[in-house]
Amino acid sequence: MAWEENIHKVVPYVPGEQPVGTNIIKLNTNENPYPPAPGVADALRGIADEYDLMRRYPDPDARDLTKALADYYGIEDEQVFVGVGSDDVLAMSFLTFFDSDKPLLFPDITYSFYEVWAKLFRIPNKRIPLRDDFTIDPDAYLIPNGGIVIANPNAPTSLALDLDSIEKIVSGNPDSVVIIDEAYIDFGGESALPLIDRYDNLLVVQTFSKSRSMAGARIGMAFGSAKLISYLKDVKFSINSYTMSRDAIRIGTAAASLADENYFKEVTDRILKTREEAAGRLTEMGFDVAHSATNFLFVTHPDMKASDIYSALKEKNIYVRYFNLPRIDDHLRITIGTPEEMEELYKALQEVMK
Ligand code: PMP
Repeated sequence: MAWEENIHKVVPYVPGEQPVGTNIIKLNTNENPYPPAPGVADALRGIADEYDLMRRYPDPDARDLTKALADYYGIEDEQVFVGVGSDDVLAMSFLTFFDSDKPLLFPDITYSFYEVWAKLFRIPNKRIPLRDDFTIDPDAYLIPNGGIVIANPNAPTSLALDLDSIEKIVSGNPDSVVIIDEAYIDFGGESALPLIDRYDNLLVVQTFSKSRSMAGARIGMAFGSAKLISYLKDVKFSINSYTMSRDAIRIGTAAASLADENYFKEVTDRILKTREEAAGRLTEMGFDVAHSATNFLFVTHPDMKASDIYSALKEKNIYVRYFNLPRIDDHLRITIGTPEEMEELYKALQEVMK
């Protein structure tokens, strides 16, 4: 059809499977196995009581949530931007900050959405190979570029880059915006957040989807200099004034409050404990397990193909993530579940690997 020639054609990102039904052990999209903080349940009840407010548009600036986050992290409200999950925040950031003829740099193995956004927004890009051990070489990012995006800890490798190396990349690129995607930072690694006061070209992106157990609420945020954030808002307000629903703002504000801090730490600690146990158990089974700073493990087995393990586990209603991509098609990414779910995984693996 002639009209098809005028279409902006893209190859979309494919998210992990979201199977319907019960009796499924879901270790494939790095969700938190524990419920959100108790304050979130109270906020949801408040929404039901005030359902009449749904007539009204939400606050386009999501000021309550922005302020709660600024207070929680000890920064200014003007240094905070919020959106519909960090995917929304990252997409807006790509559109805002990467408008150069020089290439946007990101690792060859990383969150696959970066390449999708780069193509969608026609941003020239160059993938920088990870070292053979899947670590990031900071010096490789000291080349001419139109921007940099790095997930730290990186996904799906689960490895963290130290803060000095992050600072080296940020300070070595004063003419570019550097985005550090910290979706998994609460499970390990050192946040670059303290650097935003010193580097006005640094944007730190985080999410409520992982450590805060709220993937279903779709809340993400970015922290940066007031100038960076104001440019980001200009683009957001050129697309959709009301990205975040009234409900999301309300429950996000509840979850960001200091009152829930203890619960949040307790849940994270539990996941870290299960992660260390899982690393030990999988190593005993002959897996090579990367040193994870996240809520998932990146593993490979010398005797069995990752794709076969993935399919055999799926037959048993256990979902893990397999990427049919160069360099990592022999690996699996396994989200840390509850200790009970992990026991089911070990049992299934033992049967599969017989
Ligand atoms: N960044 C990374 C590295 C991720 O793994 C994910 C989760 N798929 C995201 C960002 C987006 O998460 P969300 O949109 O749920 O905040």
